[in-house]
Formats: sequence, structure tokens, C-alpha cells
Amino acid sequence: MPNKKKDYQIILASIQKPVIGEAGITGTWSKLKPVINSEKCIPSKSGKPGCFNCWLFCPEGVVSRTIPPKINIEYCKGCGICKEECPASAISMEEVEIE
Ligand code: SF4
Ligand code: SF4
Repeated sequence: MPNKKKDYQIILASIQKPVIGEAGITGTWSKLKPVINSEKCIPSKSGKPGCFNCWLFCPEGVVSRTIPPKINIEYCKGCGICKEECPASAISMEEVEIE
């Protein structure tokens, strides 16, 4: 017989969101960081909420769902997933110094 309580626990564990800052400033792990071109970014151009793939797919939860989207570089790992998922090719990976 299936253990429903246990099944729910497994589902809940799999949808936990990342927590910013738990391991300190982790953005120093990578030098390449995403930079958003606001002239290409869909919500930035239109002024309307839409797309936000960068927010949706970022595994670190460091992209805001705002117009324009903002990236918290101090905690961004530089994985480039946001760049890959951007339908407008508005994100480039560049060398950015964290102060
Ligand atoms: S995925 Fe690209 S177009 Fe969409 S909100 Fe992010 S930067 Fe803008
Ligand atoms: S490079 Fe990776 S960690 Fe940084 S904002 Fe993009 S998806 Fe998130």
C-alpha cells in the first residue's frame, strides 16, 4: 500500500527554492556573469510583464521578476542557463568583477 505522507514529503523536498546567502557570497565562484541588454529584453522593451525565462530557469533564484529583470551578481554562479533560455538573445556572459 502506498505511503501518501512519505510521497508528499518527497514532492515537497523536490520543489524547495534556493536560499540566497546561506553559503556566503557564492558569486565569486565564477568570473563570467550574465549581462542583460535592455534593448533586446522583452519586458524591458515593452514595459509589460512577460517572458521572465531568466527568472524562471535560474537555479540560484538570483534573478528578479521585475521590469527590467535584475540579477544579483554576488550570488550568481555564472552557469549561463539564463542566457540559454532567453528567447530574445538579450543575455551575454561577460567578465564582471565582484567588489
Ligand atoms: S529571458 Fe531574456 S527576454 Fe526574457 S526577461 Fe529575461 S532577459 Fe528579458
Ligand atoms: S548565470 Fe546561472 S546563476 Fe547566474 S543568473 Fe544566470 S541562471 Fe542564474
